[in-house]
Amino acid sequence: MTVNLLDFDLEGLAAFCEKLGEKRFRAVQLFRWIHQKGASRFDEMTDLARSLREKLPSVCSITPLPVLSRQDSADGTIKWLFDVGDGNAVETVFIPEDDRGTLCVSSQAGCAVGCRFCSTGHQGFSRNLTTGEILAQLWYAEHYLRQHLNSKERVITNVVMMGMGEPLQNYGALVPALRVMLDDHAYGLSRRRVTVSTSGVVPMIDRLAKDCPVALAVSLHAPNDALRDGLVPLNRKYPIAELLDACLRYLPAAPRDFITFEYCMLDGVNDQPEHAQQLLALLRGHGGTGVPCKLNLIPFNPFPDSGLKCSPRSTVLRFGQMLNEGGIVTTVRKTRGDDIDAACGQLAGDVLDRTQAARRMAQLRAAGAHPVKVVPSLPQTTHQEDSA
Ligand code: SAH
Ligand code: SF4
Repeated sequence: MTVNLLDFDLEGLAAFCEKLGEKRFRAVQLFRWIHQKGASRFDEMTDLARSLREKLPSVCSITPLPVLSRQDSADGTIKWLFDVGDGNAVETVFIPEDDRGTLCVSSQAGCAVGCRFCSTGHQGFSRNLTTGEILAQLWYAEHYLRQHLNSKERVITNVVMMGMGEPLQNYGALVPALRVMLDDHAYGLSRRRVTVSTSGVVPMIDRLAKDCPVALAVSLHAPNDALRDGLVPLNRKYPIAELLDACLRYLPAAPRDFITFEYCMLDGVNDQPEHAQQLLALLRGHGGTGVPCKLNLIPFNPFPDSGLKCSPRSTVLRFGQMLNEGGIVTTVRKTRGDDIDAACGQLAGDVLDRTQAARRMAQLRAAGAHPVKVVPSLPQTTHQEDSA
């Protein structure tokens, strides 16, 4: 098997080139071809020495992830399902807004944290994605979008690690991928526009501050340990006080002067006025000074067998108002891509959806098709059946 160049940050690529007897500037050239121009073949790379262009295919490749499907929402949101092998698929979502284009990227196939309200968590954990598989999502989406929107400019301006998986439980692959997102020779995103979302892997928050500080979002979902233990099982290992301490330690290195807390609104579970009061006391009082933060309320997206319901709109608004009046800047997340199940926590659907992905792959293979390039969108009915 040859080396996949999508697995490297610039330092890694320079080291690889050095082994081939090539100078660092060759690595920069290659890196720009791959990430800025979207090249996947070496013979396109016209400014590389011919001898190098001829040598590269025998030692390395630029191998993207096969696309299983693409769905386009009426609101412009696009969801891709990528094949990561062995019947596993991961999802990536593009969310266009007036002033930005955000890509929501997956870090694992499944997730080991097993949050009660999360469809990915209910699937269990299959495996970590490699750096190349994390970056292949951005590489593909950016160059697909440029082509389809006929744009020479960058289309994706923000990346959020809020797809499937817990990014801080795949730290070794995550950090080089973040470096490529930030690198001016690649995607050149500012640190403020790359967000890692975590359910609270405390030691890795500290490491991220040193290795690659980007914007941090923390999935809090509850104002006390008793409640959070039942929603986010990782809380039993890293309880709220330790998590908030880690947030305070992160802030001096962070590109923004606040942490974003995510709070999924679950009917009758964590959405009552007393929860809002507790949350205010926690966020304003922790450590004596409180934690500089913004709060993002996420309406729960139901999925089969979750046994949970989304809070009524009026409850979400009342909760948000109490927090805002108490001095915590709080917003309610807009739901995007609802018609294609691209909203938070619905990614790569439930087990049924993954089984269908596996079935489609098997059918395509049986039909003699090469492992999947672009196949038509999933039929809507699949998803209507899946939705609660
Ligand atoms: N594992 C990371 C990142 C992926 S989840 C984390 O938990 O932060 C991204 C966000 O979607 C998290 O805030 C998560 O709590 C939220 N989420 C998961 N399932 C959801 C659902 N069914 N409805 C609404 N938000 C959900
Ligand atoms: Fe994993 Fe995040 Fe889902 Fe929890 S919410 S199960 S950490 S992906």
